[in-house]
Amino acid sequence: MTTVTLVPGDGIGPEVSAATRRAVDALGGIEWDVQEAGVVAIEKFGDPLPKHVLDSIRTTGVALKGPVTTPVGSGFRSVNVALRRELDLFASVRPCRLYEGVPSAFDDVDLVVVRENTEDLYEGIEFEVGSRELAKLRGYLKYMHGYALAPDSGVSVKPLSVSATTAIVTYAFEYARRHRRRKVTLGHKANIMKFSDGVWLQTGEELATRYRDVGFEATQVDELAMWLAWAPDEHDVIVLPNLYGDIISDLAAGLVGGLGVAPGMNLGRDYAVFEPTHGSAPDIAGRNLANPIAMMLSAAAMLRHIGRAADGDRLERAVASVLASGEVRTADLRPHGSPAGTSDVADAVVAAIEDAP
Ligand code: ATP
Repeated sequence: MTTVTLVPGDGIGPEVSAATRRAVDALGGIEWDVQEAGVVAIEKFGDPLPKHVLDSIRTTGVALKGPVTTPVGSGFRSVNVALRRELDLFASVRPCRLYEGVPSAFDDVDLVVVRENTEDLYEGIEFEVGSRELAKLRGYLKYMHGYALAPDSGVSVKPLSVSATTAIVTYAFEYARRHRRRKVTLGHKANIMKFSDGVWLQTGEELATRYRDVGFEATQVDELAMWLAWAPDEHDVIVLPNLYGDIISDLAAGLVGGLGVAPGMNLGRDYAVFEPTHGSAPDIAGRNLANPIAMMLSAAAMLRHIGRAADGDRLERAVASVLASGEVRTADLRPHGSPAGTSDVADAVVAAIEDAP
């Protein structure tokens, strides 16, 4: 038995987690350490990310996590950002593969978006419009560099470091090599942000010379967005800084059937957290409407990560067969007949696992 931390989360989290747990339990071999985070934990412990959740992940090394909401204006920190910081999960990896039977404008999509998870505009270096700090910054920029910021501006700072870029681009190349992927595309905007994206591009180009067995190209991120919407099969592994990665990974999810089927993982040197790309979707929570497939595919990646590749493959095959048959499908996948519920998808995936040992 391997112990894995299970964080069901809130919103649709508990439903998609219960469905996924049933599928993984049908394979056997996993013991769950269930931990509450998010709205449930605020009510119980007064903290959306209680220390014992982190302690559990530090002990097991790996978590399967549902979506967790940070209530707007609650004064609480974002659980997702806090988890990434506390566990140093520097890489967000989102495989976007089109499965047979899933409605899409394309026939063949198999992309992996690798997103830097720790810096960029997400660092939280923010200057509020009208604040004293911003008045000082404006004065400094005017005095030192002659820049005149409009007095009614707000400012967010975008740091990109050589060290964080090296870590994530190296990860992308190693991933490409390990999975026999044909190329790594690095997205940037170095023509405009010469010193932040400039570091990103230059560091990436230097690293590429060490991975000549893997193809490499650097593309401006706006052009990359256009190419992804036009001919997604021309790309393979895409590596991006935090903000571009956030946007492009949702675009890529849209190419392969939407958020309901897009798995994700956050990886660090010591810990890994597997979670669907989607949020807590409060509009459909508690109604047995959510698609659990994104979380099931995240669980398949988790099983491979802990050395249970055969189980991971078996789970993915079961999910793929349910999608291909088209009979049991939640509303987001535009079914022909009446939509299936979350628990119907779990029933179908468990049956497919049992049918194909
Ligand atoms: P967040 O800010 O946390 O990303 P959000 O509500 O803005 O949350 P999501 O929760 O990711 O965004 O989803 C947006 C919409 O997509 C949801 O409101 C829901 O209608 C749909 N959706 C998301 N996930 C699923 C799912 N697993 N199954 C079905 N529909 C989903």
